[in-house]
Amino acid sequence: MSIPLPSPEHLRQNPIQLTKAVSDALKQARDGEHLRAFITLLDDRALVSAENVCARLQAGEKLPLAGWILAVKDNIAIRDTRLTCGSKILGDHQATFTATAVKRLEAAGAVIIGKTNLDQFAMGSSSEMSYYGEVRNPHDPDRVPGGSSGGSAVAVAAGFCHAALGSETGGSVRQPAAFCGIAGLKPTYGRVSRYGLVAFGSSLDQISFFGRDCASILSILSVAAGVDPRDSTSAPEPVADCSKGLLPLHRKLRIGIPAEYFQTEGMDESIVSATRNSAEELKALGHSLVDVSLPTTAHAIPVYYVLAVAEASSNLARFDGARYGWRNPQANSVADVYNLTRGEGFGDEVRRRIMMGTYVLSAGYHDAYYKKAQRVRRLIFEEFLSVFKQVDVLLAPTTPTTAFKIGEKIDDPVAMYLSDIFTVPANLAGIPAVSVPIGCDERGMPIGAQIMGPHFSEELILQVASQLEERIEVAS
Ligand code: GLN
Repeated sequence: MSIPLPSPEHLRQNPIQLTKAVSDALKQARDGEHLRAFITLLDDRALVSAENVCARLQAGEKLPLAGWILAVKDNIAIRDTRLTCGSKILGDHQATFTATAVKRLEAAGAVIIGKTNLDQFAMGSSSEMSYYGEVRNPHDPDRVPGGSSGGSAVAVAAGFCHAALGSETGGSVRQPAAFCGIAGLKPTYGRVSRYGLVAFGSSLDQISFFGRDCASILSILSVAAGVDPRDSTSAPEPVADCSKGLLPLHRKLRIGIPAEYFQTEGMDESIVSATRNSAEELKALGHSLVDVSLPTTAHAIPVYYVLAVAEASSNLARFDGARYGWRNPQANSVADVYNLTRGEGFGDEVRRRIMMGTYVLSAGYHDAYYKKAQRVRRLIFEEFLSVFKQVDVLLAPTTPTTAFKIGEKIDDPVAMYLSDIFTVPANLAGIPAVSVPIGCDERGMPIGAQIMGPHFSEELILQVASQLEERIEVAS
């Protein structure tokens, strides 16, 4: 196992050690190359930014994120660095601008050491669908880390960085956080600017965060969040002031336990019992548990896989070999440029989704699939709004199983899609949700539970999740 990085607080107080800590982090990432967490390490850039941060601190500047060493999923743009989205088609593309979230984090003193591996274009639940090879779970390298932000999850879980950026469209941060035994937050839709995040399903996409604990996530989120004139869907809601850190929760809450999240076929017994145990721990702190029902849960996966693929098919039309990225050198007619470039430049899963998306949007099927899915999405949204009139937050498992074996679901897309069954409802409703580790199964693989809350309740759900962190000792 690697030597732990000095904490961000320690580095902030001893800025002279920052460059050394960054170079150690880069070395550890390289030593852990077999996990394939990174696609690109940003050595020179990271060392230069560490020196800058050190100089700014020594000049007396106050930098809230000085000392933080971060990794960024490779579907988020950083100017003049490679942006692959885990694909062949964007293989050598250099980003021409920097994502707003990254800009804000760097301006606050964070140092980014690299771009992490992912399922191509963030489509997947295992991080096996990357053109750069599958990511491996540090708890058992024969198992997947979850996906699609598997590289970022592994970078944090293996100790290569303090925290990391991922993205969620349907659970791509919470699910790998659960599989790797760390915390992962998907903020409210609109909380963080999407400018610079390569679009997959624009009505669902949200930059999201991994940390070793909930307090780290709040530190990063509060800097990255907030309205951005470059993203018209970013929300003007005020951002929590986290200068005092994650404050303890003094209120007693009503915590909803949604029945449907405990009744899925093929669910691991160990997950059901660990989640029930977490509920009891919260009750012991004085919160009350309320049984609730969210009957539309069963429709979330089909609705998601209509809407996400429809949006993807239109968003991915821009990758055609004409303007940027890879172009098939054999192409010598316009039709060939499209067919050969897109045919070979995208992986199987991406092509499958573009075809499904085009189908559900086509004239004859639009009403039967796309329109209907939008209606059901509305019902899911309204069901959450009404349950949040009865309870303050919801507690549920993050995933139906723990990390599965590499290759186990690769030929069965439907089985793969079902691993998101408990995460996609929050994406469809646009509400925030955080996954925290609550134990391990009989093989020692981590189990996560999620706290979901009303729109813009990030601070509250992190406070509840951090009570679980305090009460439940999880061996790592
Ligand atoms: N696993 C889901 C999918 O394949 C979610 C992906 C994501 O959140 N980016 O679409």
